[in-house]
Amino acid sequence: MARRLEEKKTMALVAHDNRKKDLINWCQSHKDILAQHNLVATGTTGGLLSKNLGIKIESFLSGPLGGDFQIGTGIVEDRIDMLIFFWDPLESLGHDPDVKALLRLATLYNIPMACNQASADFFLNSTLMSSKYERQLNLIEQYQMKRKNTSLLD
Ligand code: PGA
Repeated sequence: MARRLEEKKTMALVAHDNRKKDLINWCQSHKDILAQHNLVATGTTGGLLSKNLGIKIESFLSGPLGGDFQIGTGIVEDRIDMLIFFWDPLESLGHDPDVKALLRLATLYNIPMACNQASADFFLNSTLMSSKYERQLNLIEQYQMKRKNTSLLD
């Protein structure tokens, strides 16, 4: 089982408050490549990015108000192909469960995900950014097989 990423990807951008400046600077440095793809973001991150970069970006709700879940839903429903998530490893946040859920879904659905600047740099310099790519859904396949072969009523 696999899902295809097309040449033009839909990329989700999210940054926690202490990482927003870094994400904006990073996006500024890679504006030309980013502009070739569809961009979505959580509310505050998206607002700051469109204001500072002048690029078209669809903003969801703010992360703490459900924006992380909206991005997670986009991944599950195959509307979001990639995630760049500058999360803050030094602070506990009220919506940490949502953050964990988003990272979990991105891993489960095997979407390309970068959680720090170096990974994001490698990411954008990959030739796969401008080509088609089949991402395998092995974990989902395994889960479905296990479910099929397990009786829950014994
Ligand atoms: P924000 O959400 O872009 O609305 O600040 C990010 C987050 O904290 O998940």
